[in-house]
Amino acid sequence: MNINDSPEEAAFRAEVRHWIAEKIPASELGRKQGIVQGPGVGDKTMTPVRQAMLEQGWRAPHWPKEYGGAGFNFGQMIVFKEELTRAGISEDINNGMDMLAPILIAYGNAAQKERFLGPTLRGEIGWAQGYSEPQAGSDLAGLALRCDASDEGFLLNGQKIWTTKAYNSDWIFLLVRSKPGTKKKQDGISFLLVDLRSPGVTIRPIRTIDGFEHFCETFFDNVRVPRENLVGELHQGWKLAKGLLGHERFSHPTSDPMLIGRALDNVKAAARELAVGEGAMWDDPVLRRRVAAFDMDVDCLRYTRYRALTKVLQGGEPGPETMMFKLFGAELMQRIVELHAEVIGPLSSVWEHSPFPEESGETARHGANIRAATIRGGTSEVQRNIIAKNVLNLP
Ligand SMILES: Cc1cc2nc3c(=O)[nH]c(=O)nc-3n(C[C@H](O)[C@H](O)[C@H](O)COP(=O)(O)OP(=O)(O)OC[C@H]3O[C@@H](n4cnc5c(N)ncnc54)[C@H](O)[C@@H]3O)c2cc1C
Repeated sequence: MNINDSPEEAAFRAEVRHWIAEKIPASELGRKQGIVQGPGVGDKTMTPVRQAMLEQGWRAPHWPKEYGGAGFNFGQMIVFKEELTRAGISEDINNGMDMLAPILIAYGNAAQKERFLGPTLRGEIGWAQGYSEPQAGSDLAGLALRCDASDEGFLLNGQKIWTTKAYNSDWIFLLVRSKPGTKKKQDGISFLLVDLRSPGVTIRPIRTIDGFEHFCETFFDNVRVPRENLVGELHQGWKLAKGLLGHERFSHPTSDPMLIGRALDNVKAAARELAVGEGAMWDDPVLRRRVAAFDMDVDCLRYTRYRALTKVLQGGEPGPETMMFKLFGAELMQRIVELHAEVIGPLSSVWEHSPFPEESGETARHGANIRAATIRGGTSEVQRNIIAKNVLNLP
């Protein structure tokens, strides 16, 4: 794989840079950490960046053009992402755009694509992910939300938990137990699209240590769902569920080497600024060796990820190897954020509205928020099990 820009990629890079300079307001550039979004920003909020992307036809770089996507090829995807991150623009994973849409494109029927893809792209519909339940997180196939099927549709009873941003979403994609008592628990699961304004749905936010209430408990009490909201075949939802998880792990910001590299740049900048005796903290060779080791880790992740992205963009599905990026990236990001805290000391725990003007609270919030990176989308322990089995073929 040639990692230098081809003439076409160099021209595209210049086009993206020009677009950023022309169309993105300065207030949206240069975000330090990038992935902590306040409670006011939902998946469907059309921020100035998202609006500019939509107008340019670049809001969904990875979707095919026929569904309103940019239809970028492999090289363009990399260049586009790199230039956004370089400019300090970065987004948390978007439930509808990054997770549901690839599944609808692959498995949805024409009516479902027509009804949901365009409005999701334009920010008219925001989506929540209804996978985890109190007794089914790592063991997702143990889910129990009851779904009684009839000719008219489905009747739902049960609970989901950790449904991020459900409070400001309109719809939820849901895994339900449509056939209880199957020999294999992966059988008998269906994949439904449910309007969160349906009678019988109750959403309760949960506050987390970063100070936000992104999480919710979502309850379903005799909720009726029309038959046409079933995606794929009845009782065969596990295949879709797994495919969606592959897209979630792939799109996750903590597996993005550019973003992790930027976190490391923050460490370097802080160490250069902080005076120690006559010099700066950056003069410490031990610190510089630790930073260099992280730099090499970021490069390893970058090039291994390019290989897997090539496969996806050539029409393959994300495979179990994508687990390695999320596992490695999330742990690497956490270690870099910990080093940042070590370098800036007590300032790392200063929140907004403090008397210390140096920090905006972003570092503190990011430090708290990043603890979740090794849990969401599958915990590190469970991913090690899966890699051992599916990638390394260990017994
Ligand atoms: C920020 C964030 C956002 C999330 N957003 C959503 C969302 O929008 N929708 C949604 O459905 N879910 C969401 N989740 C839930 C997430 O998918 C689960 O937290 C995750 O799958 C782990 O499940 P659990 O919390 O039930 O932990 P458990 O499965 O109960 O695990 C508890 C501990 O036991 C360990 N463990 C469990 N099984 C094994 C095993 N076989 N071997 C070794 N160790 C094991 C785990 O690693 C963990 O340390 C989110 C989570 C986070 C942190």
